[in-house]
Amino acid sequence: MASALGSHRRALVIGGGLAGASAAAALAARGWQVQVLDAADQPASGASALPAGLMAPHLSGDDNLLSQLSRHGVHATWQHAQSLLRAGIDWNPSGTLEHRVKSRRGTPPVADRADDWHRDASPAQRTAAALADDAPAIWHPRAAWIRPAALVRAWLNHPAITWRGGVRVARLHRTDSGWQVFDEHGHEVGQAPLLVLAAALGCGLLADGRLALQAVRGQVSWGLQSAHHPLPEFPINGNGHLLTQIPTDQGPAWLSGSSYGRGDTATDERAQDHADNLARLRTLVPALAERLAPDFAAGRVRGWSGVRCASTDRRPLVGELAPGLWVTTAMGSRGLTFAALCAQLLVARLHGDPLPLPQPLAAALDLARQRPV
Ligand SMILES: Cc1cc2nc3c(=O)[nH]c(=O)nc-3n(C[C@H](O)[C@H](O)[C@H](O)COP(=O)(O)OP(=O)(O)OC[C@H]3O[C@@H](n4cnc5c(N)ncnc54)[C@H](O)[C@@H]3O)c2cc1C
Repeated sequence: MASALGSHRRALVIGGGLAGASAAAALAARGWQVQVLDAADQPASGASALPAGLMAPHLSGDDNLLSQLSRHGVHATWQHAQSLLRAGIDWNPSGTLEHRVKSRRGTPPVADRADDWHRDASPAQRTAAALADDAPAIWHPRAAWIRPAALVRAWLNHPAITWRGGVRVARLHRTDSGWQVFDEHGHEVGQAPLLVLAAALGCGLLADGRLALQAVRGQVSWGLQSAHHPLPEFPINGNGHLLTQIPTDQGPAWLSGSSYGRGDTATDERAQDHADNLARLRTLVPALAERLAPDFAAGRVRGWSGVRCASTDRRPLVGELAPGLWVTTAMGSRGLTFAALCAQLLVARLHGDPLPLPQPLAAALDLARQRPV
């Protein structure tokens, strides 16, 4: 097969959500002409259609792999969001308060040192979240809510990237010069020396079952904020999350989630998921949940549901599946944290550039860790 890094750097990316758009942008920035193919008519139509999501570093007492990876991921996305998105409209880099609520496994350890990434929440921040003065609460300055679709569209808005929607890729074929892709009618819909699979659960089918991926349905609940019941200016996370001050045509909105249905691929709105979200909110921010409970009871709360794509160890999968065939997927519940980092890693590996994170952390994202299934 001719080298994908020859003089004609053409790539096809399948999937136009956070994973595919970030990969397309990273390739375009490195001189590639990229076509993005997606089954949907519009970008960000899968899980990335989420109205707004939280990007925050993960905190653990022993600073585990996920915590370290999440800081690299937040750093990567932050750079893009800062230059591409409108603060207060597409994202809000306010920082977040993590209420380290007691779970079935006990209260998570609170880190005993402050650094650029976290510190003990201040009394004013606890008060704004209507939490007790001694509530276990950490402040993460590098955290934000983001509208995924805004980031996807900004990434795709590059002269070297073309978008083609309404194309469901059903089969891949390797040739001497790269890869051909075919739709469900057997028509060739593209060919290029480099092919990147970023189609979430669709990657599993296209990779002939060589990736172990799980579907995890989720629903968020959201509603309009009331002037009578003010909410904090920043998100709160812990067991689930509460995002606030998200602008809509009808005024600022709050959003809370998310339910978790392993193996479920349906995207209908469910009363039970709203009830689960309210129950989670009651443990996360009890006083604020009581302010919102009447909206749940009166049916004023709206829902959005989607399907996450997760790996068996819940870390993303990035790497080369076959010569010229790369994968970036399994963003799980953290597409905003991980998509940009995975795109950087993919392009660095492809070009033999320095990696964007230490080798052991890169290995923790590499699909080579998954035995073929
Ligand atoms: C309820 C809920 C709440 C969430 N909250 C957060 C949060 O707060 N923070 C956070 O970071 N993340 C959150 N997530 C996760 C986040 O939404 C995902 O990690 C992210 O959107 C995944 O991006 P993706 O590009 O991998 O997948 P998707 O956005 O699903 O994109 C995959 C694309 O591939 C296309 N496709 C699939 N098969 C084919 C095919 N055969 N041919 C062509 N195209 C194909 C699809 O049409 C789709 O556009 C949440 C998810 C849910 C469901």
